[in-house]
Amino acid sequence: MSNDIPAPQLQEVSDGIFAYLQLHGQWGLNNAGFFVGADSVTLIDTCFTVSRSQALAAAVRDTAGDRPVRTLVNTHHHGDHTHGNSVFGPGVTIVGHELCREEVIATGVGTKAIWPYVDWGDIVVTPPNVTFADRLAIYAGDLRVELIFAGPAHTTNDIIAWVPERRLLFAGDTVFSGGTPFALFGSVAGSLDTIATVRALGAETIVPGHGPVCDSAVLDGIEAYFRFVQDTARAGFEANTPPLDLARATDLGRFAALHDSERLVANLHRAYSELRGEAKGIALPIMPIWADMIAFNGGEMPRCLA
Ligand SMILES: [Zn+2]
Repeated sequence: MSNDIPAPQLQEVSDGIFAYLQLHGQWGLNNAGFFVGADSVTLIDTCFTVSRSQALAAAVRDTAGDRPVRTLVNTHHHGDHTHGNSVFGPGVTIVGHELCREEVIATGVGTKAIWPYVDWGDIVVTPPNVTFADRLAIYAGDLRVELIFAGPAHTTNDIIAWVPERRLLFAGDTVFSGGTPFALFGSVAGSLDTIATVRALGAETIVPGHGPVCDSAVLDGIEAYFRFVQDTARAGFEANTPPLDLARATDLGRFAALHDSERLVANLHRAYSELRGEAKGIALPIMPIWADMIAFNGGEMPRCLA
């Protein structure tokens, strides 16, 4: 089932700054990235499984030589971005939003139950040990990297890493490139706010959480998708249509070309929560919503390629 997955690719997106791309960005295939400083490496995110994270570590070593990874940033708590944290050793400072730490601890390796066929390896749950609420600047060598809280959007605890000197953004999963945006663990309305925030930065290069490197043009499609979700949800909510039935009756139009389109069901559940007036990012019952995604998929589990 994995024969259509290319090997991970390294792309130098700016001098000394690399995107580690696991294309095409479907479930479990996230991007990471790293900055090679004079004497150390700053890493953005890890991978879903131990072996994928070890491959990332090998790519860092191939590129940066003996320079150790001293700082690791988690863009949000999901396992495809954090499960490999421990692979980089006990001496690494792991930076994340304060809610990211809480969620990494609370969710642990719960994702393993959803995709039991994945070869996870021995994941040691390792949360961020430096946390912040709104903004934190870190330095990769001399280069300033601004970590900005951007949630609730994809999750409650998204942060983006902005490098003003290079007009470069590591967007985490606030930006999907080529895949269906996903707000089940965050907020549809909040995602639209975050897109506006990202747009205002004026990035020339965006490393998304999943999919190929892109630029700000990708934001138009994400915004249009979430507005489509809101409009669809509004009509269904007023007609008392369950999200699964609504999703089945919805023509995705141009969004059908995005991979993992079953996320529509989950996004509609989140939009309904917001139409009920619930707080953005409030916890929803995940398992019944996951079951709806499977039903929408004709009984097939969303396909994880990790
Ligand atoms: Zn995620």
